[in-house]
Formats: sequence, C-alpha cells, structure tokens
Amino acid sequence: MSPQTITQTLPDTTATPFEFDRFDRHVMKTYGRFPLALEKGSGCRVWDTDGREYLDFVAGIATCTLGHAHPALVAAVTEQIQTLHHVSNLYYIPAQGALAQWLTEHSCADRVFFCNSGAEANEGAIKLARKYAHTRLNITNPVILTANASFHGRTLATITATGQPKYQKNFNPLVPGFHYVPYNDIAALEAAIAELDADERQVAAILLEPLQGEGGVRPGETAYFQRIRQICDEKGILLLLDEVQVGMGRTGTYWGYENLGIEPDVFTSAKGLGGGIPIGALLCKEFCNVFEPGDHASTFGGNPFACGVALAVCQTLERENLLANVRERGEQLRSGLSQIAADYPQSVAEVRGWGLINGLELNADADLTSIEIVKAAMDKGLLLVPAGPKVVRFVPPLIVSEAQIDRALEATRSVLASLSDR
Ligand SMILES: *Cc1c(COP(=O)(O)O)cnc(C)c1O
Repeated sequence: MSPQTITQTLPDTTATPFEFDRFDRHVMKTYGRFPLALEKGSGCRVWDTDGREYLDFVAGIATCTLGHAHPALVAAVTEQIQTLHHVSNLYYIPAQGALAQWLTEHSCADRVFFCNSGAEANEGAIKLARKYAHTRLNITNPVILTANASFHGRTLATITATGQPKYQKNFNPLVPGFHYVPYNDIAALEAAIAELDADERQVAAILLEPLQGEGGVRPGETAYFQRIRQICDEKGILLLLDEVQVGMGRTGTYWGYENLGIEPDVFTSAKGLGGGIPIGALLCKEFCNVFEPGDHASTFGGNPFACGVALAVCQTLERENLLANVRERGEQLRSGLSQIAADYPQSVAEVRGWGLINGLELNADADLTSIEIVKAAMDKGLLLVPAGPKVVRFVPPLIVSEAQIDRALEATRSVLASLSDR
C-alpha cells in the first residue's frame, strides 16, 4: 500500500484564510516562524492553508521518519488509541516492553527508559552518568565534557550541556558540572581531562553527538571517536552519545555511532523514534544500568500510545528496507549538491553529511545566509531548514523517492542561480 491509497480530505481553505495575526496574539513568540501555515501532508509532500504544495525536506526537523500519513503510522495510531492509550508506569505496559526489546535487539544497548523528548532523554543520561560517577567511581564533583557547537536540548541542564552561549544567555545560573571542548579535536579533549582531574573536578562522562546536527551538520571523525572510546575505557568513565537527531536510520544505519566504528555506553533517541509522535528514550549497557526504583520517572514516558506507534515505525523501517533507501537517496542527494557546489563556488563552501542528513555550507565571505536560501526554496515549493547562519540542512523523510530528490536538487540549483548573481 502506498501513502497515496489512503483518503485525506483537505479542509475548505478558501472560505477561512489563515489568520496569522490572531495566532501571534495568543502564542508565545519563542520561535522565529516563516509566514507559512501547513495543514495537510502525504508522504514527502505537505500543503499550506492556501492549498499550495511543498516538497518536505524538513520532516518536522528530522522527525517524520515515514513522512506524512504513512499507512503504517495511521494504522498504528488508530489501533493504539482504540485499544489503550495511557495508563501509568505503576503497571506493566506490553507495548513498552516490545519497543524496548526491538531497540535493544537493534542496538548495542541492554536497557531502555522511555520519556517524551530529546531534552528529557538527555536529562536522564546526565542523571545516570552522575549516579554512576557517585556510586561506582567515587567521584564527588563529577564533570561531563561536551562539545562547542553542540545541541542537547532546552531544559536548564541540557542548555548547559549545549556548547552554544546563544541558548544560555539570560538563563543563568546554569547547572554546574559541565565543561566544553572543541569538537573533533582529540588534543584539546585530552588536555581538558588532565586539567579537570588535577583540579579535583573529575571527568565522569563525555557527551557528544555522533554528527553535530543543529551545530551545522558536522560529522564526527572516526579517529576522534575511537580515541575517545579508548580514553573512556582506560579511565572507566562513560561515553554518552546524543543520537536524538541522527539515530533511527537517518544516517543509513540504525544509529549514528555505527558510522564511527564504536559503541557508546549510553545513548539517547527521540526525534525520528515515533515518526512525529512524541517519544524519547534513554538506552544503556547493563554495566551502567544504575537506576533503581524511585530514581527517575516520567508520567507520559513509555505510554501504550507512543510505544505502540514507535514500534510500528521501527518495524516499518525494517520491513520496507528503508536503511538501503537512506543510503541510496543520500548518495544521490550529496552527489547532486556537490555538483551544484562545483557550479556555484562563489556561494557554496562545502557539502557534507551521512545518509539523509546533509548540509550545504555557504561561503563565509559570500553575502548569503541560510535563511535567505530557505526562504527562496520555499517560494519554489521546497521546504529546507537552517543549521546555523551559514548551513542549509536537508533532512527529508526516510521514504523519499529518487524523483523527489531530483526535484529538490532542481529547486536548490535554481535558488542558487537566482541568489548567486545578485
Ligand atoms: C532536537 C535535539 C535535541 C532536543 O530534542 P527535543 O525533543 O527538542 O527536546 C537534543 N539533541 C539533539 C542532537 C537534537 O537534535
């Protein structure tokens, strides 16, 4: 069954044009929004309130794994809501157990804790690392190393973990116990560990993204991560990976760490896990499974609805062999973008990424920003998302077709053609 076989009705939009002003009077202005209101989606396409169609290469920011209104997603949502949607972790929840089993059978982890978002999953990872440090390593002032230009979420602990001052400004006092190092720089990391240890603020864990998403689509380097794995093993400290954006098949493997030839001790997932239904997960190996009853909890975490739907997403990834599609479509996209970069060297500095998370970096000295590219692409019917001021990110649903990649490349080329000779 293809996504087109389900019937969707488009509300009568012409009768009631969307009132942007009314929205802005009532909703907090925490987001810089584009003046576009979306109301329907199917596969990799979405429609705005005027009925205009867009090719969706944002996918809810690397979240809608199966695109919009995928039959497997529709069926799982329908079945789960009609059966049982929410109870409490006071009881055993069969769907939660089934999802945890799928995740542990398809990763290096032995145990899973479920929550509702990436930030919440990372909060759990930070708590787990601190408890491990106190109870197993006898560290009294544990420090977690994180990277500059990282992104780990918007709660107080996760903005502190995030090595970008713009997310922390005006929210101090921040949470103690974090220290930042430049990404992909092993000498700086070793120096920081030595310095902190000498200062009796011992490093308890290292928290990194396998590929920095928000920080500009920067893939981790294999040698860097392999050396970090060695350091963690030698010191007995934990390697935590934030797989919130790159996990769940986005890079062409189930998990981002598979691209680096290492295994983390702890990792987190969220964005793509529920295909757009809110769910987060904290996963760890048995040796650092230190949480006991009462240590951590979440009312909604692991409810039957989210787990039933996420399990359907996982099984669909497998059944439709989407990892192969991610690798093939990713190659096609990167080679097309590289061709465009070669044709517009004055505008484009670099194209990089893994699978279906790719970034096109604009030249630092070009009078061109990622927002301008995103706006111009939107006018041509293609949705893209910035990853910082100079990087345009391409993160389509994992079901994207060859023809859709071609269309996105065409639109991107014409955007660069029009903006490059201003
Ligand atoms: C999006 C993201 C988060 C935060 O996830 P939320 O669900 O928005 O809390 C954390 N880490 C990474 C790498 C992300 O991309």
